[in-house]
Amino acid sequence: MWTYHPDLLAVPVPRYTSYPTAAAFDDRVGHADMQAGLAGIAADDTVSLYVHIPYCRQICWYCGCNTGAANRSARLDAYLERLEQEIARVADRVGHARVGRIAFGGGSPNAVAPAQFARLVDLVTTRFRCDDPVLSVEIDPRGFTAEWAAMLAAHRVSRVSLGVQTLDPAIQAAIGRVQPADEIRRVMDLLRRADIGSINFDLMYGLPGQSEAALEATLVDSLAMAPDRFAVFGYAHVPAMIPRQRRIDASALPDARARFAQAALAHATLTAGGHVAIGFDHFAVPGDALALASANGTLRRNFQGFTEDQATTLIGLGVSAISEFPDRLLQNAKNTGRYHLLIAAGRFATVRGLRRTAEDRVRARAIEKILTRGTADLSGVADLAGVRDRLTPFERRQLVRWEGATLWVLVEARPYARSIAAAVDQYQSAARQFSTAV
Ligand code: SF4
Repeated sequence: MWTYHPDLLAVPVPRYTSYPTAAAFDDRVGHADMQAGLAGIAADDTVSLYVHIPYCRQICWYCGCNTGAANRSARLDAYLERLEQEIARVADRVGHARVGRIAFGGGSPNAVAPAQFARLVDLVTTRFRCDDPVLSVEIDPRGFTAEWAAMLAAHRVSRVSLGVQTLDPAIQAAIGRVQPADEIRRVMDLLRRADIGSINFDLMYGLPGQSEAALEATLVDSLAMAPDRFAVFGYAHVPAMIPRQRRIDASALPDARARFAQAALAHATLTAGGHVAIGFDHFAVPGDALALASANGTLRRNFQGFTEDQATTLIGLGVSAISEFPDRLLQNAKNTGRYHLLIAAGRFATVRGLRRTAEDRVRARAIEKILTRGTADLSGVADLAGVRDRLTPFERRQLVRWEGATLWVLVEARPYARSIAAAVDQYQSAARQFSTAV
């Protein structure tokens, strides 16, 4: 059972898919930084790629992703053409490095036609040095076809993540994402027949009108569909930052205590259903690569969340995509028009980011270890006394303990993991546009 300590969750905190987080990025980086980042990749390095498709067939009201409606095929075609130029430009510089993983996300990669997507996969896998990379694709179940499933199989895609969120029809209507449970079952059947080895469900709690009973029904019905992984996120209602969320009835949102109970219910139901809890919001069946990484201490965290990927360089391609190099974080233009202009001008589309200092890198490693392993040696952190101070309220509740400079996060502290990690964050006070940890 999790114990609710509202004071420990009062301050919004980042999700720490990077450190420093994107909130600390500024515009003092650009094309030359991307050039330098790519030039630093050695011949024997293994890198990962992320390819962003910023379009969806239908836009969900809660969505905070950088995506737009795929209602004009000319716009999609023009974007894919520009993306191909960017891919070629990056590949020309790092064709020597081995690519171990390629993730396609968005938006919804299946907003484009199967033949267009196949062409994109072929381009990436032939322009980079790929010997049997792990291919993963985010899929919107709405409109997913047998033709798409066959194309994924033909291109040896081994992982798919489905945006499910909730199976409750009334809540689906309240968040602008109507996709009946039978539709999800149909997609699961197509994916299993296509031999997709690992399927993830994204689910949400804290949705308008969502009760514990409704959440439990979604969890139970989802478990019955037997995905290999779950990622369970709390809905963050920030309409001032995400205007499309204005369509959501804020008066129907569960309060902080109810959200905490829902997060605890998801954890209890999924673990009772045979999944292993990974980090603070992922779950996987015991033989899954993510569960194995968690068990053997090699779990990592990157822009895609918890991962078993060991690469230290992730190259982001497409509008708004973020690249992570050991010494820098670089984001492409979020605005599609600006992205087009930069790529057409023969440049990289980098417009925001930062160069990590040595101190940033020490803290980045510490935060990643806190979130993935539940323990970190903080002896290299400059203001260790300040970190200890900030963690005193957690220590008093027996959620953390110290062995010298090594911090141990106890299992009961799982819902507070992000808040505990925030104690190591030097930029926290400068940025307050985050969500609560639960
Ligand atoms: S399908 Fe996914 S990316 Fe597209 S609008 Fe809905 S939540 Fe956002």
